[in-house]
Amino acid sequence: MNQYLFVLLSFVHVLADPDFAKLDGAPPSKIAVVGAGIGGTATAHFLRQHFGPEVRIDVFERGSVGGRLATVTVNHQDYESGGSIIHSLNLHMQDFVQQLGLKYRKSVAGKTAVFNGDEFILEETDWYLLDLFRLWWRYGISFIRLQMWVEEIMEKFMRIYKYQAHGYAFSSVEELLHSLGGSGFINMTRRSLSESLLELGVSQRFIDEVIAPIMRVNYGQNISIPAFVGAVSLAGAQANLWAVEGGNKLVCSGLLKLAKANLIRSPVATITLRSTGDYQQYELTYDSQNEKSSELYDIVVVATPLQQNINSGISFQGFEPQLSEIAGSYHQTVASIIHGYLNCSYFGFPDPKLFPFSSILTTDTPGLFFNSAASVCPVNITSGFRRKQPQEAGVYKVFSPKPLEKSELKTLFKSYYSVQVTDWLAYPHYGSSQGLPPVVLHENLYFLNGMEWAGSAMEMSSVAAKNIALLAYHRWNRQLEMIDQKELMHKVKTEL
Ligand SMILES: Cc1cc2nc3c(=O)[nH]c(=O)nc-3n(C[C@H](O)[C@H](O)[C@H](O)COP(=O)(O)OP(=O)(O)OC[C@H]3O[C@@H](n4cnc5c(N)ncnc54)[C@H](O)[C@@H]3O)c2cc1C
Repeated sequence: MNQYLFVLLSFVHVLADPDFAKLDGAPPSKIAVVGAGIGGTATAHFLRQHFGPEVRIDVFERGSVGGRLATVTVNHQDYESGGSIIHSLNLHMQDFVQQLGLKYRKSVAGKTAVFNGDEFILEETDWYLLDLFRLWWRYGISFIRLQMWVEEIMEKFMRIYKYQAHGYAFSSVEELLHSLGGSGFINMTRRSLSESLLELGVSQRFIDEVIAPIMRVNYGQNISIPAFVGAVSLAGAQANLWAVEGGNKLVCSGLLKLAKANLIRSPVATITLRSTGDYQQYELTYDSQNEKSSELYDIVVVATPLQQNINSGISFQGFEPQLSEIAGSYHQTVASIIHGYLNCSYFGFPDPKLFPFSSILTTDTPGLFFNSAASVCPVNITSGFRRKQPQEAGVYKVFSPKPLEKSELKTLFKSYYSVQVTDWLAYPHYGSSQGLPPVVLHENLYFLNGMEWAGSAMEMSSVAAKNIALLAYHRWNRQLEMIDQKELMHKVKTEL
C-alpha cells in the first residue's frame, strides 16, 4: 500500500454512525500524536485538558521538537530560521506563552524598502505621516481599502476563540471556515488574492508593488495564491508583531511538559487499523533503538503534512474501503542566515552609512534570485541591544526559492564570515484548485495539517490543534451536538 495514500472514508457517514465510539463509555486509555511541531504539541496539551489526567499521551517525533520552528546558531547566538513572527491577536500562542511562563520578544524597529531588481521603488521613512502621504500619492486609497478588508477578515476569524471556548468543534476545515465567515470565507480559499483585491478596488500597481512583495517574503509565492492565505499573510505584515524570547520552539517543548506527554523520538512507519469485535484501534509501528516496536492506540492525531514531497514515511494499512492520494505539494523556501557585510552598492547606496533599511522586500521580477533580505535579531535580546549598522558585520536572513549560489551571495554581500542554510519545504504550494484536505481520516484518526491549506502559520496549527482535541473528545463521548453546529454566533451569545 502506498505510503502517501490515506483513508477517505466519508466522515459524514462516520458522524452519523453511532458505533464509532467505544460502546461502554469508558475513556480512551492511550492517544498518539505523530509530530512534535507546534501543531502536535498544542494538540497534546489540549487533549490533556479535555481527556483529563488518566489517559496516556505519546507524542512521536522523528526530528527535532519544534519542527518548522527552529533556530540556527551564529557567533554564539541563536536566530529563528523557520516560523518567526506572531501577531498580537494570535490568542492561542499568547496563552501558551503565558501558561508556560515564557517571555515576549518584541520586534526591534527598522525600516523596510521594496527592491525591483534595479532600484528601490518604495522606501519607508522616519515619518509616519510622510509615509502615509507617499502611499496615498502613489496608490490612491488602495491601502485604506486593503486595511479595512484585512481587519474585517481578522474580526470574523477571531470568532473561533469564542466558539472554541464554548467547546464547539468542526469536522472539516470548510465547516470551521464557514462558521466564521460563511461562504465568503470558503470562496476566499478558492479565488486568487489578486482577483479579490482588484474587485475590492485595490489598484494593480499597489498589488504589484506592495502586496506581491509581502506574499514573497511570507509564503515565497505570488499574488495568485488564494485570498484567504493572502489575508493571513497581510495580517502578518502589520504592526504589533512579537516572538518568543529564547526561540519560538520553546513553546513546543513547554507544551509537551505541560501536557505530561511521553515524547518518543522515533519516526512512525505505519498506522494500521486493528479490529476486535466492534471495537477498533490503531497500531503504530516505529523504530526504537534499532528495533521495530508497535503499540495500540484508541485515538491517533497525525500532526505532520502527508503530501507526497514531504515524505512523512507513514504508511496507512488495513483501512477498508479505499484509500486516496492526498493532493498538492509543499513549497521550497531556503532560509540562509548570513553573517557578513551587506553590499549596499548593489542597492544603489555606495556609502553603507547612508543605507537606512533593515528589511528589503522584492517585487515579482523575473530573474530576481531572492525573495527578501533582512537584518535579524537573535532570539535573546538584552536590554542594551541595538541593530548592527550596515557598515558593520551583521546577521542577515535571506529567503530565496533555491539555495543561493556563490555568485549570488557575492552580489548581496561584500564579504561574509558564515552562511547557514535551511532548505525548507516550508508551507503548502498554494494553487486554487486542490481543495482542503480532510480532518477526519477514520473514526478516531485525525489529520491536523489540512488547516495549513487555508493558511499556514503557528496560530493556524494551534487553532487546528484545539479543534481536533475538541472534535476527538466529542466524537469519543458521542456529543454530536457540539460538532458542526450552525448559527454559532447566535448560540454563543445566548449561552451562559
Ligand atoms: C521559513 C519559514 C518561515 C515561516 N514564518 C512564519 C512566521 O513568521 N509566522 C508563523 O506564524 N508561521 C510561519 N511559518 C509557518 C509555521 O512555521 C508553520 O505553519 C508551523 O510551524 C507548522 O507547525 P506544525 O506542527 O503544523 O508542522 P511541523 O512544524 O512541520 O511539525 C511536524 C513534525 O512532524 C514530524 N514528523 C514528520 N513525519 C514524522 C513521522 N513519520 N514520525 C514522527 N514524526 C514525524 C516532523 O519532524 C515535524 O517536527 C514559517 C515556516 C517556515 C518554514
